[in-house]
Amino acid sequence: MPFFSYHCPARDRTFETLVIGSEQPACPDCGGTDLEKLLSLVTREPRIAEPAGACAACPTYGGGCMGG
Ligand SMILES: [Zn+2]
Repeated sequence: MPFFSYHCPARDRTFETLVIGSEQPACPDCGGTDLEKLLSLVTREPRIAEPAGACAACPTYGGGCMGG
């Protein structure tokens, strides 16, 4: 799926959108189409490091459990 990252200078917002063919993406915040196309394909927020093996059985595993 051709997801691309764009930056909207008007709102200083970066977002990802699915672009098909020559479709013009629009900012989901202000609807603007004067966007900077970012070079990276799909940037994701880095995951919070999970404690290694500490709470593999914890019901909140992956949800922010600190292994407490
Ligand atoms: Zn915008």
